[in-house]
Amino acid sequence: MPTDHTPEHSMKPNAHEGLLIDHNHDGVDRRGFLKCMAWAGTGALCVLQGGVLRSFSLSDAASRHAQGELSYVQISDSHMGFNKPANPDVVATLQAAVAKINALPAAPEFILHTGDISHLSKPSEFDQVQQILQSARPKEVFFVPGEHDVLEDDSQQYRERFGKNTKGSGWYSFDKKGVHFVGLVNVMNLKSGGMGSLGAEQLKWLEDDVSPLSKSTPVVVFAHMPLWNIYPEWGWGTDDSAQALSYLRRFGSVTVLNGHIHQTMQKVEGNVTFHTAASTAFPQPHPGGAASAGPMKVPAEQLRAVLGITEVNYTRGKHALAVIDSTLE
Ligand SMILES: [Zn+2]
Repeated sequence: MPTDHTPEHSMKPNAHEGLLIDHNHDGVDRRGFLKCMAWAGTGALCVLQGGVLRSFSLSDAASRHAQGELSYVQISDSHMGFNKPANPDVVATLQAAVAKINALPAAPEFILHTGDISHLSKPSEFDQVQQILQSARPKEVFFVPGEHDVLEDDSQQYRERFGKNTKGSGWYSFDKKGVHFVGLVNVMNLKSGGMGSLGAEQLKWLEDDVSPLSKSTPVVVFAHMPLWNIYPEWGWGTDDSAQALSYLRRFGSVTVLNGHIHQTMQKVEGNVTFHTAASTAFPQPHPGGAASAGPMKVPAEQLRAVLGITEVNYTRGKHALAVIDSTLE
């Protein structure tokens, strides 16, 4: 559902709710989730080693960074064109995200944008995002559409700009340094309650796409809406994601990256790590933390603490890719 039609919420972010890191390093989170959330300029790295989740401070993460073979960065939900009180200047916060990327100790090889590039699918909004991203050090940007990017047509404008040589409504795959990346589209034909949907044609394509790969190939899947059911009451999930995941279970390392819910959240299920990224535009309430989903107004001085970017590092021989969230502060 386009969040434009839902009311703005006025809530203060609760630092304790957002920070559910396994400080005991015993791999057990009290609510069955491990959330890596960075508030007030701090950051956390979550990594799965030998089936155990561990958390590290961001300063530890910086030294690990140098050992990785592939690093890239994910941004999401730039909502260019949004201008309500939750963030009257989404240009400035996207520029801050680019500055953050450019300040990383080693330039990431590329950027993934997991959709809701624009707020209303207007050409001027797409233009502005493309222009801002030109100042990023990584020159290659891979996109998937959000529901806000396909409001006007059957994803045609999106595909002309961001999805050349993709299949169907914009799905595709590519390889980087032995890692297989799959971009999926789950924002067409939304199901009741706004749940995402992949559809039979895309599922068949996915099955064929990954079938030749050896099970030791690290796989990264990225899409706009979560591929795990975070909160179906708000449409925060994908109707047929279980079918997609059934094709991925045999792989030793699968990382699933999403946006759409405008907050970081992580879950590990076997060899699959799910991670949702923060928005560069505005936060949304925690699942069930308000009457409905939608832009959440926080005090202006706290806004950049609830927006962010996600850095992902791959080291050969490690089971999981290291995912690091940092805020725009
Ligand atoms: Zn969305």
